[in-house]
Amino acid sequence: MSFSLALTEEQVATQKWAHEFSEREIRPVAPEYDESEAFPWPVVEKAREVGLYGLEYYQMAGADETGLTSAIVSEELTWGCAGITLSIFGTGLALAGLAGSGTPEQFATWAPKMFEKEDGSIALGAFGVTEPGAGSDVSSLRTRAEKTEGGWLLNGTKVFITNGGIADVHVIVATVDPTLGHKGQATFVVPPGTPGIAGGKKERKLGIRASHTAEVILTDCFVPDECLLGGEDLLRRKMESAKTGTSTRKSGALSTFEATRPLVGAQALGIARAAFEFSRDYAKERIAFGKPIISNQGIAFKLADMAMEIDCARLLVHRAAWMGRAGVPFTQAEGSMSKLKAGEVAVKVTDEAIQILGGYGYIKDYPVEKWHRDSKIYCIFEGTSEIQRLVISRAVAAAGS
Ligand SMILES: Cc1cc2nc3c(=O)[nH]c(=O)nc-3n(C[C@H](O)[C@H](O)[C@H](O)COP(=O)(O)OP(=O)(O)OC[C@H]3O[C@@H](n4cnc5c(N)ncnc54)[C@H](O)[C@@H]3O)c2cc1C
Repeated sequence: MSFSLALTEEQVATQKWAHEFSEREIRPVAPEYDESEAFPWPVVEKAREVGLYGLEYYQMAGADETGLTSAIVSEELTWGCAGITLSIFGTGLALAGLAGSGTPEQFATWAPKMFEKEDGSIALGAFGVTEPGAGSDVSSLRTRAEKTEGGWLLNGTKVFITNGGIADVHVIVATVDPTLGHKGQATFVVPPGTPGIAGGKKERKLGIRASHTAEVILTDCFVPDECLLGGEDLLRRKMESAKTGTSTRKSGALSTFEATRPLVGAQALGIARAAFEFSRDYAKERIAFGKPIISNQGIAFKLADMAMEIDCARLLVHRAAWMGRAGVPFTQAEGSMSKLKAGEVAVKVTDEAIQILGGYGYIKDYPVEKWHRDSKIYCIFEGTSEIQRLVISRAVAAAGS
């Protein structure tokens, strides 16, 4: 497929449809869920009714030909509220973990169960990598997977897991041989109703408060052999080649985060755009010293920079989303670039938006302070800004003579 960032007619219509949903169903209830920190089940239910819930599943199955549909839908929904969007799309991370490490048969078995329970109601998925002592340093995971008769026993504690404990299907990365770092790790599906897996402490957060974040505790959690993603032969070969130093394969965690970065960037963009639009309109109306504040260059130039930075981030996000779908490898760390830029733009733009609103930007009667709180997570989860710079710098160092 030739490189193009032009949206098709169908994508423009999808963008409009997602925006209308966001404006009608998400933005009006955003403050309420931000305050209560409750999981927004009614909104997720509405998203399901219109076909937005599980959209990433269909897109992964080939419905999104250019990769851009997922990006534009993500941006439109986070324009309404990032926390609620993460409740609608949080399962996508587990889905990407399954797609990244599982066989096509495993994907076909488990992916539908992440979105729908047997009784037809909504199901959720969660992807558990992070632990108290291992966040950026994924190679130091301590959750153990031990081979036993007919399957594997999982033991350990995961922290900060989106949908952790309330998910129906958990995808868990555990270490089989800790001496091999991430090459000694394997990814497991923990099916619905499995004993030995439980949600722990639910975190209270600065932002994205409608999204459920909690510990996941695994205590002699038995999963059958078929839950080892990729199968035992592949794991054995991976570990053997790691021992002989010939393996170049990335861990399930690393390849999953690489695949989801452009979409995480797209979410950050939605927050930035919301703050930009709101502060632009405010600046046109707010009168100070007898004229609208936008007529001061000090304010207008801020808005100019905000518009430019959002565009710049969107180009990187759409390029990476297109590359991901077309199967073009991120040789210059294009996925990391997109997530890093979009996350930092969201923080900067929401900060400037508060400044443009003055005191009104700082109080809860206006939405801008929430957008600023929501934006910060995009510099932390799925690889912090420092880790993205590490990935980019390695690509830079590997290029040239
Ligand atoms: C709301 C929320 C939702 C999350 N959802 C999930 C989820 O669904 N699944 C999941 O597995 N995890 C999830 N996480 C975890 C998240 O991915 C980690 O918090 C993140 O990767 C950072 O790890 P850490 O918190 O342990 O920080 P650390 O790794 O301890 O990092 C602390 C600081 O040190 C810096 N640092 C670390 N190493 C280096 C280095 N080599 N060079 C330069 N700087 C470095 C970091 O950039 C950071 O600034 C979530 C976290 C939050 C807050």
